[in-house]
Amino acid sequence: MTTAVARHLQTEPVTESDEQIAAYLDTALLPLVIASVVHITGDPSWLRGPIRPNRFVPNDFGGAFTEEEKAELVRSATAAIAAWRDAGCPAPAPLAPELVRELMDWLALEHHDDATAEMILEEMDLDGEDPRAIRIAPEAADHAAEYPVLVIGCGMGGLLAAIRLKQAGIPFSVVDKNTDVGGTWWLNTYPGARVDVASHYYSYSFEPNQVFTEYYARQPELHAYFRDHFDKHGIGEHVRWQTEVVRAAWDDAGGYWDVELRTGDGAVETLRVRAVISAAGTLHKPFIPDLPGLERFAGPVMHSAEWDSSVDLTGKKVALIGAGASGFQIGPAIVDRVAQLTVFQRSPQWMAPNPKYHDAVPEGAMWAARHLPCYSRWHRFMIMTQSSDKLLELVRMDPTWSDFPRTANAFSAERRKLFEAWIDTHVGDDPELKAKVTPQYPPAAKRMLQDNGSWLRCLKQPHVTLDTSSILQLEEGAVVTAEGRYEADVLVLATGFRANELLAPMEFVGRDGIPLSKVWDGKPTAYAGVTVAGFPNFFMIGGPGTGLAHAGSIVFAAECQMKYIGEALRQLVESGKTSIEPTEEAYERYVRELHAEMDTLMWGHESIANTWYKAPDGKIYILNPYGNVHYWRTTSTALPADHVLR
Ligand code: NAP
Repeated sequence: MTTAVARHLQTEPVTESDEQIAAYLDTALLPLVIASVVHITGDPSWLRGPIRPNRFVPNDFGGAFTEEEKAELVRSATAAIAAWRDAGCPAPAPLAPELVRELMDWLALEHHDDATAEMILEEMDLDGEDPRAIRIAPEAADHAAEYPVLVIGCGMGGLLAAIRLKQAGIPFSVVDKNTDVGGTWWLNTYPGARVDVASHYYSYSFEPNQVFTEYYARQPELHAYFRDHFDKHGIGEHVRWQTEVVRAAWDDAGGYWDVELRTGDGAVETLRVRAVISAAGTLHKPFIPDLPGLERFAGPVMHSAEWDSSVDLTGKKVALIGAGASGFQIGPAIVDRVAQLTVFQRSPQWMAPNPKYHDAVPEGAMWAARHLPCYSRWHRFMIMTQSSDKLLELVRMDPTWSDFPRTANAFSAERRKLFEAWIDTHVGDDPELKAKVTPQYPPAAKRMLQDNGSWLRCLKQPHVTLDTSSILQLEEGAVVTAEGRYEADVLVLATGFRANELLAPMEFVGRDGIPLSKVWDGKPTAYAGVTVAGFPNFFMIGGPGTGLAHAGSIVFAAECQMKYIGEALRQLVESGKTSIEPTEEAYERYVRELHAEMDTLMWGHESIANTWYKAPDGKIYILNPYGNVHYWRTTSTALPADHVLR
């Protein structure tokens, strides 16, 4: 067993009495407890008896056992864990691959095909081998010094790149316009900010967070996670804060990038590096709508991503413009302290019922994550398998479907029914409100929101008004719409981001002296979302064609991209060559196929209005139209034939 295996399987020793263990198991996720017991005992009979999970509802991995089944499982698992405790909690031996597959199927209630299983097992890394690390052959390790890399951004993607480069011994610097690590999770401090991908999947695969305190962690906890790993891996000494890239130019003769940096005090300097990894993020340039009279508004005006916590909202009249992902979290978080809340909603959003959305992880589940080997690994598995590629079918256009644009296909119609019923449970008694909050486009045509009812409960409060007409103008202390005039002390703009302005205002000039912004001309594209022909040694994390809009985790996607980048850097260092890039043919093929695939989905359909997914020309460049397995496979293999090393 490798040391890393031991690290993954190492948990805090169980010292509790049998009664205490049983009490903890009572609120742990029992299917995951059984998975851990299989690791502890190596005994497959746990999976072959009459008791097995009955079903899983979205975001709930309890297994829907009957009370009798639950009692029996708690009793038998307590006995197995107590025996393991009495033996001194030895590190479990790795399970046979067939048993792992059996466990996967037992937990998921379905069989995983080999490709899906391979992807999930890489992510879970039960063997502790960290398969996505950059591994440079020892005999070439000294050459790494000749390949300094610049990482742009120190959010989730930039920190990932930095950690991977550091582990590999490749010299690097990081620049970030902010003053702290975390990107989105540093900038977005608005009330109610929390992740809407299940927390236990929202951490690096090689640094899993076993103990998020909430199923959908809030901003401070997420920021703390990134800060902890920034410190743990010693990234601070490589970072220059408040420093932005202005321009970078590739020197083909020398095989390097000259990068022009502007520091916080306005000084400009040049850094010479062999490769650039941009992890600058997509959703960070606030979109401020051009509202007539906005400059006349006398009170504080805050964009969701530029929250001013010194503004006390207590007893204030607040105008909230925007009911997307951010507004949807802000409203319920401030409603109890404001005197009046007026929500200006241009389009309603679909909500996925998720009763656990604001819930704390119960004490028993926290205990299990800390003490039971692989419990958390299987928690990650459950989230992955539930947010699987099947959800992509929700947005696939069925050309024979007559109900479009209410729904896109049979699956979409089924989901619409479910989501409408959810809306009905909350506002069925108020037909006018129900009509206002029910979208007329298919589910998932725009990003779905996780919901536990808090948004609709907020809208129903007597001091809350939902205006769905158009905003005509702002006055010194009011918002005027086609329906009315609403006094306001504070204006909150939850109006989203300029998501399609990828890399801007940075400029990257490639081999032919042409800036990337010109090559793209408002239509950003990249091979595997990472590289561009004619721009050697230039890589992106979160590049065009990588945004996730159906299912999955952006952390997983970033790890796929970094694996591809790491492989490219490994090839450079080991070969002693100076540059790598995709061939023109491979780049164009990738882009052509991606657009053909995108055309089968409804995100870009002309009837889907007001979506940040679309570029000004109405087409979609920033999203990934493929499932996770396809994208993982592409970035894992990134064919040598598709690239040139010079
Ligand atoms: P968003 O989803 O784009 O929402 C912007 C809101 O502002 C929409 O309701 C939009 O209406 C409205 N709006 C824009 N311009 C307007 C105008 N001129 N007049 C009136 N209303 C206007 O932006 P966001 O809420 O910041 O979220 C963006 C993305 O960030 C999300 O989709 C998600 O990917 C991510 N995010 C995630 C989380 C999370 O993980 N929990 C939280 C926040 C954000 P229309 O819908 O009609 O355009």
